[in-house]
Amino acid sequence: MYNIEKTYNPKSINSLLEAMEESGTEGKIIAGGTDVVVKLIDGAINTKVLIDVSAIKEMQFIREVEGKIQIGAGTTFSEIEDHNLFEGRIKGLKEGAMEVGSPQIRNAGTIGGNICNASPAADIVPPLLALNAKVVLQSKEGLRKMNLEDFFMGKGKVDLAVGEFLYYVEFEQINHAQGLGFEKLGPRKALAISKICTAVFIELDQDLIVQDIRIANGSLGPNSLREREVEKILKGEKLTAELKEKAQRAFKDVINHRLKGRSGVAFKEEAIRGVFNSALEKSIKRALI
Ligand SMILES: Cc1cc2nc3c(=O)[nH]c(=O)nc-3n(C[C@H](O)[C@H](O)[C@H](O)COP(=O)(O)OP(=O)(O)OC[C@H]3O[C@@H](n4cnc5c(N)ncnc54)[C@H](O)[C@@H]3O)c2cc1C
Repeated sequence: MYNIEKTYNPKSINSLLEAMEESGTEGKIIAGGTDVVVKLIDGAINTKVLIDVSAIKEMQFIREVEGKIQIGAGTTFSEIEDHNLFEGRIKGLKEGAMEVGSPQIRNAGTIGGNICNASPAADIVPPLLALNAKVVLQSKEGLRKMNLEDFFMGKGKVDLAVGEFLYYVEFEQINHAQGLGFEKLGPRKALAISKICTAVFIELDQDLIVQDIRIANGSLGPNSLREREVEKILKGEKLTAELKEKAQRAFKDVINHRLKGRSGVAFKEEAIRGVFNSALEKSIKRALI
């Protein structure tokens, strides 16, 4: 059973930094609490000091700054779902947010919590990886920016120093001829198999040559990851039915290799192919809007 001895409720980033300094390695940030509370109850963490960041308005924003979209770590999935910035070409991000749990979980759960919890099944992470997002970290020393991909250090681990927190994520606004697609297969889709989610970012030129492609998967490794072998097959090539077929086969082979030894692989193969195909087709459709 958990035993919380002290709670901080900072209302600003400055007070958060002070609370973090005062509590040192003992302090544990709690945002929406949808992961932390479960872990406290299960005994998976045994912190005695909680720092509740849910009242810090400075961490709750969605804004566009010089062609970049910035999302504060304290932004909930419902806020992403409701924001008109995530319609059209970039809708894959909204689709990722909409796949998280139930409406109650989406009202409380934050993008910062999803990232910092570092679960391989974090739904917002594959679309962010496909967008080549960066994380902006804050400590008393100032800001530190790094690729989201490099922030993950294995299951449940991120590159955060003591006294440092995730302030916001940032990525380039997507442009004409670019599109982001997302698809998820999992318990919410009433299929009792391990869930998998895939995000695809694509840029096409007028001759349908793939100028850029980024593919990211969730639930298949210690953290979500990019599928560079499959990206290589598509990049620089004309998007024909044959090329898509080749990419689908390569995708299936890569995943198969990773799932080796797990039960039900043959069934999963077809499902995985379908998830990739759907995310890819959505990205293409949006790039051609
Ligand atoms: C019933 C249920 C269903 C769920 N379904 C899904 C699902 O379908 N898909 C999915 O992806 N997730 C799901 N989750 C998991 C969870 O809701 C998400 O991971 C959510 O985004 C966590 O956000 P939070 O704000 O609640 O994080 P919290 O629980 O408050 O924190 C999570 C972790 O992040 C750290 N943290 C939070 N904010 C910061 C910050 N700004 N800087 C540094 N560290 C920080 C905390 O210290 C903690 O380690 C589910 C959870 C439940 C209980």
